[in-house]
Amino acid sequence: QMKMPLWLDKRAFLTPERPAIEVNGEKWNWAWLNKEAKGIARRLGSIGVSKGERVALLMDNSLNMVAVIHALSYIGAILVPLNNRLAAPEITWQLLDAEAKLLLYDSAFQEKVAQVDVDKTKVMAWSEMLTYVETDIDLQTHIELSDIHTIMYTSGTTGRPKGVILTYGNHWWSATSSMLNLGLNTEDRWLVCTPMFHMSGLSILLRSVVYGITAVIHKDFDPVKVNQAILQEGVTMVSVVSAMLSRMIEGVTMEGYPDHFRCMLLGGGPAPRPLLEKCRERGIPVFQTYGMTETASQVVTLSPEDSLQKLGSAGKALFPTELRIVMGMKDVAPGEEGEILLRGFNVTQGYWKRQDATEKAIQEGWFRTGDIGRLDEEGYLYVLDRRSDLIISGGENVYPAEIEATLLSHSAVVEAGVTGVPDDRWGEVAIGFVCVSQEKNVAEQELILYCENRLARYKIPRRIYFVKELPRNAANKLMRRQLLHLLSRKQD
Ligand code: AMP
Ligand code: MG
Ligand code: MG
Repeated sequence: QMKMPLWLDKRAFLTPERPAIEVNGEKWNWAWLNKEAKGIARRLGSIGVSKGERVALLMDNSLNMVAVIHALSYIGAILVPLNNRLAAPEITWQLLDAEAKLLLYDSAFQEKVAQVDVDKTKVMAWSEMLTYVETDIDLQTHIELSDIHTIMYTSGTTGRPKGVILTYGNHWWSATSSMLNLGLNTEDRWLVCTPMFHMSGLSILLRSVVYGITAVIHKDFDPVKVNQAILQEGVTMVSVVSAMLSRMIEGVTMEGYPDHFRCMLLGGGPAPRPLLEKCRERGIPVFQTYGMTETASQVVTLSPEDSLQKLGSAGKALFPTELRIVMGMKDVAPGEEGEILLRGFNVTQGYWKRQDATEKAIQEGWFRTGDIGRLDEEGYLYVLDRRSDLIISGGENVYPAEIEATLLSHSAVVEAGVTGVPDDRWGEVAIGFVCVSQEKNVAEQELILYCENRLARYKIPRRIYFVKELPRNAANKLMRRQLLHLLSRKQD
């Protein structure tokens, strides 16, 4: 057993005056955040929340959300952050599955919450929570690394979502290995412009308290505001997915960003080469990274100094994570593709109440990611795609990410998504969906020809559809499985 002082309490003791969080110009230092978090913890106490119980949040990124996340630690209650885009029946399902004691929501979600149907969960607006008195309960002073901190639901590729169990230890090691790689600068200001109900946003919050740096928080992603935060407001680090970065780049001159800006952490999905090249031209320090909810965020990262020779690689497994590429649990040779396996302290111990899924995912002590990749001779990882997104055409493996990258390299294409459709002759064939820039006129046949000049025949999309936008989740990640819905909508 490994006990340590409660993170926020320790941080507020060490550096009470330093800025902790900043939202819309409002700044809280660590002492103030600690006071707020303790106050909320005492209110949760009078509501009857106790150690080990699950508390679900349906909130926007905000000062309140940060405070309540830390308040849960003081009680020892488990954070269940809900995706605020979920529909009421999905929320109902997750509350039941998590057996949540309490759902706390922002008034903005009032209407949705009215349709949530649970009787074992107390459902309470933020404003109502504030009417409870601060009871004089014993707040936790320490946490155990083996205690559960979060249950975060992942949008399963098939079937119901699964609650990923993440302990304090998982988050601690994630923060530590990120720091061992990126280094710690106490002046850092890390921008959160992805939702805190996802790992990408939550991980920044937890790093900030361990490191003692400032988390600058945006409610939503707005490329203009993000650029302004970097150019004028001293933000030094940002975590983004490629669709966000491509929109940011449009507003950045060849001069790039100021020198204090040291890290553009790019993850969540494949990074298209043309985007990486544009960033390189502008001297933007892009760290490509690979990770997932189950690993409490990034586990493999590529430093900018390697990005020239290793363009397109996600890098090497961070200290002290281990990585293997296997076929049927047997290692393959460098250069060969297989499933990516991971082992390390930030890897989840499994899924909440889902022993079957846990046993499938964790074998011989290794976590099976379900992603396909290969390692080069030096141990650099190239992520090819999700196994479940793979298109098999005439017996050949076709990776949507590769075709998307090709489409994106065309000057008219702004966004691209590729998926498979059944085909009598080939089993499956690829089809593409693109968003094009308004100024540039381009026809379907021209794009197909463009692919024919660059890709093997079996990879050429049978059809390419022009759409206004691609289906993306709240973290702006492409949801390939929903691309086909665009098709039925088109034919309506
Ligand atoms: P999530 O758990 O929602 O954060 O999604 C994690 C998944 O995103 C991984 O299992 C991969 O399929 C995908 N992903 C994350 N980073 C990368 C990357 N650098 N390249 C390709 N796919 C990625
Ligand atoms: Mg995500
Ligand atoms: Mg996943």
